[in-house]
Amino acid sequence: MANYPAEPAEVAVPAQPRYGMETVGDMLRMSNSREWRDLFSLELQQPLPDICSEHGLPAVDRWVKVILFRRTPRGIEQQGLGVSLRGFGSGLVRTGHRIPPVVGDLHGEWPVCAKCIRRTTLLRWLARTLIIIGLPLLPALLIALQLGVDHIHPAWVVAFFPGWFPVGLLVAMLTYQTADQFIRFGPIVNAESLTIRAHPDFAAAVAEQRG
Ligand SMILES: [Zn+2]
Repeated sequence: MANYPAEPAEVAVPAQPRYGMETVGDMLRMSNSREWRDLFSLELQQPLPDICSEHGLPAVDRWVKVILFRRTPRGIEQQGLGVSLRGFGSGLVRTGHRIPPVVGDLHGEWPVCAKCIRRTTLLRWLARTLIIIGLPLLPALLIALQLGVDHIHPAWVVAFFPGWFPVGLLVAMLTYQTADQFIRFGPIVNAESLTIRAHPDFAAAVAEQRG
């Protein structure tokens, strides 16, 4: 990305298990999982500095978000666009699990800059537009079917299927997922020390925080 003046830095941040579950969502997720015993739930030991990890700019807000991790052939990876795309890819080749299972989560407050907020807002707006755009196609097609299939221009049919469904909706889902990823963790090797792939200015701020 053009935002990086240098290579992204690998910033190690200490983490610890969360004791006790905080939300009903946690409980539901654990009880629904067949391998719930293997699920981990982590939090950072220290709050992150007031610098956004993606752009290295001053944070204007902190977003509270639970980050999910999935067990992929590459290890325990943060849920994100790459994991989903590889999941779809392998799903096309063989049947079975397309998206790798969730094995744990990380709770925290993530510093975001004005650029992060603009990016997320834009991507969410794009995803919503993609979803909304196809909605009028449905009644239009139903009316056209009443009139007779001969009256439907094939372009409209293709626009609906496979254009909007499933391709458009799939792209919308992936766009939402991209909008949600405003901090990037490396695969978890050691649950006590997580790695953030961050802007060098963020790395410097973390180093300074530790003194
Ligand atoms: Zn940012």
